[in-house]
Amino acid sequence: MTHVVTQSCVGDGSCVYACPVNCIQPTPDDPRFELAEMLHIDPEACVDCGACVSACPVEAIKPHSRLDERELAFEAINADYHRSRDPRPALAPVPAPLVVRDRGERLSVAIVGSGPAAMYAADEILTIPGARVRVYERRQTPYGLVRTGIAPDHRRTRRLTRQLDRIAAHPRLSMHLGVEIGRDVDEADLLRENHAVIYAVGAASDRPLDLPGADLPGVAGATSFVGWYNGDPDHHGRTFDLSHRRAVVIGNGNVALDVARILSVDPESLSETDIARPALDALRASAIEEVVVVGRRGPSESAFTLPELVGLAATPGIVVRTEQHDLDAPAAGGPKLDLLRGLTARTGEGRAITLRYLRSPVRIEGRGRAERVELAVNEPAPGRPGAVRATGARETIEAGLVLSAIGLRGREVAGLPFDQSSGAVPNQRGRVELGGEREGVYVTGWMKRGPSGFIGSNKACARETVETLVEDFGSGRLGSRPSRAASPSRRWLDPSVR
Ligand code: NAP
Repeated sequence: MTHVVTQSCVGDGSCVYACPVNCIQPTPDDPRFELAEMLHIDPEACVDCGACVSACPVEAIKPHSRLDERELAFEAINADYHRSRDPRPALAPVPAPLVVRDRGERLSVAIVGSGPAAMYAADEILTIPGARVRVYERRQTPYGLVRTGIAPDHRRTRRLTRQLDRIAAHPRLSMHLGVEIGRDVDEADLLRENHAVIYAVGAASDRPLDLPGADLPGVAGATSFVGWYNGDPDHHGRTFDLSHRRAVVIGNGNVALDVARILSVDPESLSETDIARPALDALRASAIEEVVVVGRRGPSESAFTLPELVGLAATPGIVVRTEQHDLDAPAAGGPKLDLLRGLTARTGEGRAITLRYLRSPVRIEGRGRAERVELAVNEPAPGRPGAVRATGARETIEAGLVLSAIGLRGREVAGLPFDQSSGAVPNQRGRVELGGEREGVYVTGWMKRGPSGFIGSNKACARETVETLVEDFGSGRLGSRPSRAASPSRRWLDPSVR
């Protein structure tokens, strides 16, 4: 029996270090790790010890004999990854422990935000003997996008909260909920009490859809829709009109697949999840029969990941389909394209998700609200792999709801530099070069590298930021601070999610 990595893999690499035979690839030291859509177990090398199962924070790894029908495709996906790979060392190289110069005072760090990037940074800092972490979260509940971003039907991925709970329960960490930096506490106060401040506030808004008609009622950014169905207080009271038979989602990343799936899945299958009740009620009354997901480039450039497409294609009650002529253009092969080809002209019972390619949105039209989307038809640009050019042809799709899922965008933090093109704070391995009184400001996560990668990518990212911080602490770049004990008064403990 061998084990298999399945859809909920968050790529944090915990399983890699648990494996006694290094059969899970790519490993975090491999340059391919950062772009890997999931990790893969080599069935030839797996010794069936199950160490990876215990290490995985989201129950993504199963013995192959326990895969359910919807997960069977992952057996081949794991095995295929290992065909024709180079030999690997007997054990994955483990990162060296952080070494902190003894300055006669304990390192103390404030972290702004409590999503995975923040908590992974806290976890790294807490490996340092005596080091203290104070986490500040503006919401009344912690963990950022793990609560407000992961779709409710991705139950195993949402179990990441348990790993974050374990970090939050560390006796040298204090969690301060409902505290907004800049409103309730100033950064200067944090720097007076701590050696450093790490900002990890993520990228919680949409890249703007700059099109005529984008401000019509019936058009919205995907993050507000995701926040609505996840009960995010930032989107409390939002409503979405689901009375038309078709919705269009612009962009084809994982956010696009999430919103298309939630609009299409049988609402009763969501009733036992954490979905917000107003969203469930609205989905129960929805008239939507088809969701069209529009990508401006070809199928090989689909921004969604293979595990998410496999999961979507296997969701009961949804017919996912592509159109043959969208797949006719010359394109590189690969498992994603093979799967897309298999979806061509699929029929069946249930709501349809249609993946359209080589279409750029031009405008959204309607009398007083969105009624149709005009699309420019593209074709591959000769000699420029992955690029497209407009053919001059246009198409119109009737739709009453248009969701823009064209990528996320970091929120600018007052007083921090911000690069508009990358959507991130310029930094040197996590250090924000502000100088003077503001020496000791760092960033991690999407704020540091832009909104890309997977939840687990934040682990290596946090490690790098903390390494820089520790070097700066050791070199004397960070001045001494009063070592005040963390106040336990607002320490967060929520037994309901343990
Ligand atoms: P994304 O992966 O960056 O995808 C953005 C999509 O929008 C791409 O298809 C892009 O096309 C398209 N786009 C960009 N500008 C456009 C424009 N002006 N007009 C039309 N299309 C445009 O963004 P995302 O889906 O928001 O995801 C953000 C991050 O969160 C990703 O790292 C994703 O993996 C992660 N995430 C993961 C999960 C999961 O694992 N289940 C769930 C949600 C989010 P081009 O490729 O042509 O630019």
